[in-house]
Amino acid sequence: MPAAAPAQAPLSAPQKALVKLGLARDIDLALHLPLRWEDETRITRLADAREGEVVQVEGVVTDNQVAFRPRRQLVVTLDDGSDTCQLRFLHFYPSQQKALAVGTRIRARGELRGGMFGLQMVHPATRPASAELPDTLTPVYSTVAALPQAYLRKAVQSGLVRADLGDTLPPGAAQAMGLDSRWGLRESLRFLHHPPPEASAAALEDRSHPAWQRLKAEELLAQQLSQLASKRERDALRAPRLPTRAGGLQEQLLAALPFALTGAQHRVVQEIARDLDREVPMHRLLQGDVGSGKTVVAALAAAIAIEAGWQCALMAPTEILAEQHFRKLIGWLEPLLAGRARSVAWLTGSQKKKDRAPMLEQVASGHAALVVGTHAVIQEQVQFQRLALAIIDEQHRFGVAQRLALRSKMQVAGQEPHLLMMSATPIPRTLAMSYYADLDVSTIDELPPGRTPIVTKVIAASRREQVIDRIRLQLAEGRQVYWVCPLIEESEALDLADATATHQQLSEALPDALVGLLHSRMPPAEKKAVMALFTGGQMGVLVSTTVIEVGVDVPNASLMVIEHAERFGLSQLHQLRGRVGRGAAASTCVLLYAPNENGRLGDTARERLKAMAETADGFEIARRDLAIRGPGEFLGARQSGAPLLRFADLEADRDLLEAARELAPRMLDRHPELAERHVQRWLGGKWEYLKA
Ligand code: ADP
Ligand code: MG
Repeated sequence: MPAAAPAQAPLSAPQKALVKLGLARDIDLALHLPLRWEDETRITRLADAREGEVVQVEGVVTDNQVAFRPRRQLVVTLDDGSDTCQLRFLHFYPSQQKALAVGTRIRARGELRGGMFGLQMVHPATRPASAELPDTLTPVYSTVAALPQAYLRKAVQSGLVRADLGDTLPPGAAQAMGLDSRWGLRESLRFLHHPPPEASAAALEDRSHPAWQRLKAEELLAQQLSQLASKRERDALRAPRLPTRAGGLQEQLLAALPFALTGAQHRVVQEIARDLDREVPMHRLLQGDVGSGKTVVAALAAAIAIEAGWQCALMAPTEILAEQHFRKLIGWLEPLLAGRARSVAWLTGSQKKKDRAPMLEQVASGHAALVVGTHAVIQEQVQFQRLALAIIDEQHRFGVAQRLALRSKMQVAGQEPHLLMMSATPIPRTLAMSYYADLDVSTIDELPPGRTPIVTKVIAASRREQVIDRIRLQLAEGRQVYWVCPLIEESEALDLADATATHQQLSEALPDALVGLLHSRMPPAEKKAVMALFTGGQMGVLVSTTVIEVGVDVPNASLMVIEHAERFGLSQLHQLRGRVGRGAAASTCVLLYAPNENGRLGDTARERLKAMAETADGFEIARRDLAIRGPGEFLGARQSGAPLLRFADLEADRDLLEAARELAPRMLDRHPELAERHVQRWLGGKWEYLKA
């Protein structure tokens, strides 16, 4: 560790920048690897250099003046005996002008260009020629404006010297991971910071060099270890056992349902029931495509908890979502609860105090068997009598902080509740194995019977009239239609105007139908009224800006039009599309796109629309989304503040990932102190976040 600075000494700007970049410890600096390397080990004669090459030359300054055409610039002529070259600086300081005075012997490194006046370099890096030539490549690190490259280089170098780089891999581990044992952490880091000039540029760049392999393997191992450690920490906690009772509430619910479970639903209910019957808190993700029927699975899990005499909390990220998602579930459960003198309590942010008070009381007394709402459910004043199961819908929309709060909130008398998270965005396998390795996953991979596949059409906005004709046909058949407009925060006012205009236009074009408008700025009561008309079937067309609030289940809706589809993310589009095709009618999703000013559609937008047209499979969509966006954005809130993989690539380094996954449990069992050191080294204090 660097010597602690006296408390009063304020940090300098570069020191602050180091901290901000997460480079606080020596080991952090040592693990800050170069983006690229520059070869300053050789001097090239100007006469031998080719145009377009990046070279280092050395010579004497023979001319130095400030030119004013075409704009103010410093022009320096350098003569190396074989030829001359002009060095041009568009931005320069007086000190630079002095350092490059006529007669000085200097080194300049940059791209050599040909020009009207012979060879030149624009903004070369220069230094006095007295310095000895380095014998290794010069590292270039990613940095920020407040942190000059030279300062960072020195800091990294001293970090590298001071850091403890002792091996944390247990004997045999390197071999088990297929690593070259000659490349320990120390050797690998020294090599990558200062490779010799003869090192293969390709192996450095594409990270296939054994030194890179070593780092990637260690990084993946740290991730696996931290996930496993938090899983085991959780396994040490206690939760109430909730056995499934024959003839109990959950069987009554099954009997009351208007349909039979699909095989997949049946299987996941059993997986959940098995978890609930243990004294270890469940930590399970239920994933299933939009419309795959996750809600009824949640209801059955709730029924098991309630039957066992405990409380269950159900949370969704917004009020409308909470209501839409759980209305059915409550409809199923409430009649069964009434017979047992237990109730359902609602808790939302917009609730009036006088409505809220009796709800809080029911939660505290245990009378409420089921507590439904938004994150208001986990706020300070809410005291559960005996909470045993928390179910979170659309879990990815909850932030890390909220989930941490949830965990601390839910403890009752030293017992953790079981946790079931639900998501329609499936986690691609590589992510499930890495970032979500601490999570058990249940997957509904089958849609309820009788669904007809949705046809997706990508249509230019210029053909809007044809789309409106299509709406007319659907309405004539008694079907309903969604029309979704984007709402992007930066242009909210404009977008709202667009939606209003669309609403107006559709109302005029479809005089016989009731056309509704729903957007985020409307008062809650008005939103509710609009939703009621649409779910009730009286409203033929619903124009909506707020994507999230379209979380409705209207089987009669058979057409969805998404305007400016190019502005939506892939998983968003897929979620929206899932709102149709819920009944037996053939359904269509129309993606209207408008090219930009240049008459073009961006590459990623094109890829997204193409993916939508080509597949309706949520897993395939998620895989493509990951490929388009990369894990950083895909993970979103889960990873905010937490380190993403810096060196390893989940797809390209799959083999290493598999190996790390196999090694982690053994290492944690047999070499716990090495495991601890390894995780500390790689993740430092940041890994708490990974547990949320
Ligand atoms: P999601 O997984 O997107 O939350 P829902 O739970 O909202 O899906 O279910 C979509 C629709 O399918 C609902 O109308 C639900 O009642 C219905 N459903 C669920 N399971 C079945 C089933 N096994 N058979 C028929 N319909 C089902
Ligand atoms: Mg749902």
